[in-house]
Amino acid sequence: MIKVTIDKITVDVEEGTTILQAARRIGGKTVPPAMCFYSKLQGTGGKCRSCLVEVARSSTKDPRPMPKLVASCSTPVQDGMVVRNLTSPVVIEARKGVVEFLLLNHPLDCPVCDQAGECDLQDLSFGYGMAETATGDERREFLPVDIGENIKLHMNRCILCYRCVYVADQLTGKRLHGMLYRGDASEISTFISNAVTNEFSGNMIDVCPVGALTDKTFRFKSRVWFLKPMDAHRECEKCSGKVTAWMFGDEIYRITGRKNQYGEVEEFICNECRFEKKQQTDWVIEGPRHIRRQSVISSNHYEEMKKQSLINPIAGTVESME
Ligand code: SF4
Ligand code: SF4
Repeated sequence: MIKVTIDKITVDVEEGTTILQAARRIGGKTVPPAMCFYSKLQGTGGKCRSCLVEVARSSTKDPRPMPKLVASCSTPVQDGMVVRNLTSPVVIEARKGVVEFLLLNHPLDCPVCDQAGECDLQDLSFGYGMAETATGDERREFLPVDIGENIKLHMNRCILCYRCVYVADQLTGKRLHGMLYRGDASEISTFISNAVTNEFSGNMIDVCPVGALTDKTFRFKSRVWFLKPMDAHRECEKCSGKVTAWMFGDEIYRITGRKNQYGEVEEFICNECRFEKKQQTDWVIEGPRHIRRQSVISSNHYEEMKKQSLINPIAGTVESME
């Protein structure tokens, strides 16, 4: 084990751990934000620069600081390393710049965007964004396109994090979409408007940190903070069948994977569970899901319902949600 200190808190981690993963061991505000890194997908990270940190001491052997800020998602810790995240004014300043760049081409869609309320970019902008933009340049614009039966792509909102491309590569076996072109002309697209049909393609929606990939069976149905996320499961031959069912009253509005405090799914789920099983009778409802990440949803405190016995523990059904 080796020792690393992040924002004055020391933790022991295995050799080869990245700074970001070490910070996640500590938790709380020590953890740098990550828009492109996704621990369940190999090769992610190193794209968005949101997780930049300052290394004030490289290691016990070499106590010199690193000359530039480093991406915490892809930099392994060294024994005796000292890292500054929120305690570094340089990091805060750099992150403000990253947010400004991410928003250069981003539309002001939050009031009509399905991701609002669970959007990593909203959280990042709230933490580090400026009240006004420094540029008056026009944003690049695309028309929304259907990529397959169940997924809508809003390229205007895409931050080019590549997560969905890794999902297609690692989960679906046959990738039908990817990043086209270079630099500020880059865009996520299918080749000659192909449909994305693979049985696990819906996971692209869960990993997308913004509202660029949305679930067509849920679009514009409700704001997420009006819904009650419930842990639910069913027997499924294709995946674990363990999901979060987002309910309003007795109605299931959408199904997603179960996400942890970093917005990452615990297990990827199949399209049948996600898009086709929208009846309460399809699922065994386990009870309210505690949303541990910072979110407008977690401020509902609706898990109080459980204490008030609104969930029938025997039948596993919701008796009253309102
Ligand atoms: S992706 Fe996030 S920041 Fe962008 S419009 Fe949607 S909710 Fe707002
Ligand atoms: S569509 Fe979403 S997941 Fe894919 S690159 Fe864009 S922001 Fe990332």
